[in-house]
Amino acid sequence: MSKVIVITGASSGIGETTAKLLAKNGHQLVLGARRDSKLQQIVTDIKAAGGTAVYKSTDVTDLSSVKALAKLALDSFGKIDVWMNNAGLMPHSEFIKGKVDDWNRMIDVNLRGILYGINAALPSMRAQKSGQFINMASVAAHAVHQGGGVYSATKAGVLMISEALRQEEAAAKSNVRVTVVSPGAIATELVENVTDPTTKAALEKYYQQTAISPDRIASSIMAAIDLPADASVNEIVIRPTGQE
Ligand code: NDP
Repeated sequence: MSKVIVITGASSGIGETTAKLLAKNGHQLVLGARRDSKLQQIVTDIKAAGGTAVYKSTDVTDLSSVKALAKLALDSFGKIDVWMNNAGLMPHSEFIKGKVDDWNRMIDVNLRGILYGINAALPSMRAQKSGQFINMASVAAHAVHQGGGVYSATKAGVLMISEALRQEEAAAKSNVRVTVVSPGAIATELVENVTDPTTKAALEKYYQQTAISPDRIASSIMAAIDLPADASVNEIVIRPTGQE
């Protein structure tokens, strides 16, 4: 069944790859991120391949911008079946480096952005008595390493927010499903946003040796979306087979 699927952070990496796979399989896509030109190209690619997609420049740290993305979905297709809270960043650094701006950006995008997505989409899902959130966490939600304290805190927060939402929607009998995706190392632009040069060099080396294609994540997400509505995948933990 064709679904209306909104994806934040759809201009690269996991978001872009998942959007293209879902569109190829007949779903209708609504894409948001800040880089307008990237989104425009992705929508052009999707349409050229016979799919359906619209986009809107979106900053997930701005509630009105996130609500405008939800409005685009409702105006274009009349409903929101799936909202994928995917936008995120991982500028690791040790606390002694004092990268307060990076800490704040992670809290704003990785945590506040997810809450704004829920705020924008949940009322219409409640009204139609069906829906699904796909919230991007990470294996870093389950374990912390040096330099990753703030990132892990935000991603562990995504787990807690998602589980509370799942319980609330189950209690309300709203048929809204909640799926957390916790990937390991995936080859995307994520490491490009690391601002501490030493950490960035180490991460680039690690990702070159370890990371797998975002295709793998996209397939897992599509499986969770395509599952019959009476079953809900609550978390997908997926990492490279060789990742320790
Ligand atoms: P990318 O850097 O390729 O994608 C991140 C996306 O987030 C981009 O499309 C970017 O778009 C968007 N974004 C960043 N800030 C904002 C903002 N303020 N408003 C809207 N969009 C924003 O990395 P990934 O594809 O890897 O990351 C996707 C998700 O997967 C993230 O939540 C990440 O934490 C998670 N993840 C990734 C892993 C990996 O190894 N790659 C592992 C575990 C989790 P733009 O700049 O155009 O706004």
